[in-house]
Amino acid sequence: PMPKKKVLDEFPSTCCYCGVGCGVVVSKEKNGDLTLKGDTSHPSNKGMLCSKGMNLHYTVNDKSDRLTHPQMRYNKNMPLQNVSWDQALDRTAAVFKTFINKYGPDSVAFYVSGQCLTEEYYVVNKLMKGFIGSNNIDTNSRLCMSSAVVGYKMSMGEDSVPLCYDDIELADCFYVTGANPAWCHPILWRRVEAHKAANPDVKIIVVDPRVTDTCSIADLHLQLNPGTDVTLNHAIGRCLIENGDIDFKFIENHTEGFNKYQELVFSKTLEESAEICGLAVADIKLAANYIAMSKGYISMWTMGLNQSAMGVDKNLSLINLHLITGKIGKAGSGPLSLTGQPNAMGGREVGGLSNMLAVHKNLDNPIHRQEVQDFWGGAEINPKPGLTATEMFEALESGKLKAIWIMCTNPLLSLPNVRQAEAALKKAKYVVVQEISNKSECLAYADVILPAAAWAEKEGTMTNCERRITYLPKILDAPGIALPDAEIICKFAKKMDYQGFDYKNQEEIFLEHSRLTEGTNININGLTYSILKEKRTVQWPYLKQENKGTKRLFTDHQFYTPSKKAKISPVEDVFKSERPNADFPFILTTGRIRDQWHTRSKTGKVNKLNQHIKQSFLEIHPKDAERLGLTEDEVAVVKSRWGEVRVKAKISEGIKSGVVFLPMHYGKILGNDLNRANNVTSPLIDSISKEPDFKYCAVAVFKYQKP
Ligand code: SF4
Repeated sequence: PMPKKKVLDEFPSTCCYCGVGCGVVVSKEKNGDLTLKGDTSHPSNKGMLCSKGMNLHYTVNDKSDRLTHPQMRYNKNMPLQNVSWDQALDRTAAVFKTFINKYGPDSVAFYVSGQCLTEEYYVVNKLMKGFIGSNNIDTNSRLCMSSAVVGYKMSMGEDSVPLCYDDIELADCFYVTGANPAWCHPILWRRVEAHKAANPDVKIIVVDPRVTDTCSIADLHLQLNPGTDVTLNHAIGRCLIENGDIDFKFIENHTEGFNKYQELVFSKTLEESAEICGLAVADIKLAANYIAMSKGYISMWTMGLNQSAMGVDKNLSLINLHLITGKIGKAGSGPLSLTGQPNAMGGREVGGLSNMLAVHKNLDNPIHRQEVQDFWGGAEINPKPGLTATEMFEALESGKLKAIWIMCTNPLLSLPNVRQAEAALKKAKYVVVQEISNKSECLAYADVILPAAAWAEKEGTMTNCERRITYLPKILDAPGIALPDAEIICKFAKKMDYQGFDYKNQEEIFLEHSRLTEGTNININGLTYSILKEKRTVQWPYLKQENKGTKRLFTDHQFYTPSKKAKISPVEDVFKSERPNADFPFILTTGRIRDQWHTRSKTGKVNKLNQHIKQSFLEIHPKDAERLGLTEDEVAVVKSRWGEVRVKAKISEGIKSGVVFLPMHYGKILGNDLNRANNVTSPLIDSISKEPDFKYCAVAVFKYQKP
């Protein structure tokens, strides 16, 4: 038998993939490698881990692809060469100062990530909004949950998730829409599965144009036509009203806008709605009945609702169902947006989007701006919202934006209409890429590469979908001279001669952010790393006197709007996506697969995870495949107005005829750029949230013919 390796220490930490935020216990072996297991004491996952979480340690044990030294070139024709941190940051500060002096602060931008720790998110926002004087800082969370942020804000007055995971075991009806949690939020879904297994009367409604693993325990699968979610939610709302299955007292005392809503949902008959959605009237009635009969009703959603030109409308129409039934602010009920990224929520707390200010304060409120400005002691905060993710790349292409700093994300895989993003980076005057992996497509366009520390190589905090903050320790040293992201940003801020970035450690950043939350609805003032280590996790707001967090919001039915009433939004049911036509007759939808994460810079390194699905594919219905003469594993060409993809066909009864699906993860890393789903996705965005329409694009599909 092999001798057992000696484990030196155990470190409680958090999985850094999805927004479920599972606790892990990491062990460091004598040879320096890490192993890990689920943390039974963590309330979110109670010891369980999914395939990605179980294999997380391999991503840092294998350092073969890591960036280890800053690199720089003095002009676009020169090769990159290793330089010191001072050289890289001195030059970058000089370039940024030149652009800012010549063209103003809006000539530079930061594009960051929902995978940044809260401390990192905080300092980079402080730097940009508080010192450089521009709000041109956006995050890849724009591609992920910005529609949900607007939905919560418009309905409840603030971006606040009302419930917690412990409500799962108290609910008896789940409406899972635009989400495949069995694959994408697996541990949360394990809790729903266990609850259903123990209580077979619990009803599960899944709304998805595809048959996914989530459907395997569904009582009702509504396989709707893509893009018809508002029609469906309104039709369910109509049934609830017609049958008197609404909470009149709650509507009267705690909401506004019911009459207009009623008018809107009655503007279509059930038959008309069913026709638009491609569903049976009886199934819509059944869904309404399950919701009506429930004592605890939870809706869960992700990208199917958010990533849409109607993303905000879809969110509002879903939250409206909670408001008319009063199923919110009560144990076992509420709208639970499943955040895609591990710290999307932490990013929202620090105002990580270009139209937000720190700690849920509003950019358009002069008092809020003054408060934050006084606290930071920097430049006047600009009231104008900054460029959003897709707008940044458009501005680079048009030459309005001169420099971009890309931190912890790979837009050349994840942005829609990615060929345009490539052209934009090519045109940019100055590109900084702060990264862990030497495989990112963005590196080819970088003038400066800054090597960053990865998960377990730095400390800080993250907040999961249920407002739960967890501390992550530093366990390993980063390779070479790579540094934690916050340290890189603070070093740069000092090179720019800004005061207020002289933190001794990460906790000082956390404490500063916590102090800024004092008096707000997300107050965590008083919370420290030692409290987090001792309690393991805390859900905001933190109640300092009682030294505890808050499980549920709005239990008194007082919402964060000026009137304290929730707003039932008058959502017009207007279709805003690209219409298929004779040239582009199919509807393309994109999404995740079980064992890969985003752009695969981490999961792509793990052999076990690559075994599940080895390469990209186009899921297509047998009828459509037959018509096109496509057989399983033959190469299919997908063309849109924006570009082309070539991948093998995967023929499946689980997708509607007329709809095709591409996974979002693939690109040059272990593939080629014809694998890349975003070659073809449309540049349309939601007009309010500015979230792209990844879930609906008109495409043509045909069999690849050798030239
Ligand atoms: Fe990590 Fe999400 Fe899996 Fe939990 S469910 S182990 S957070 S990827």
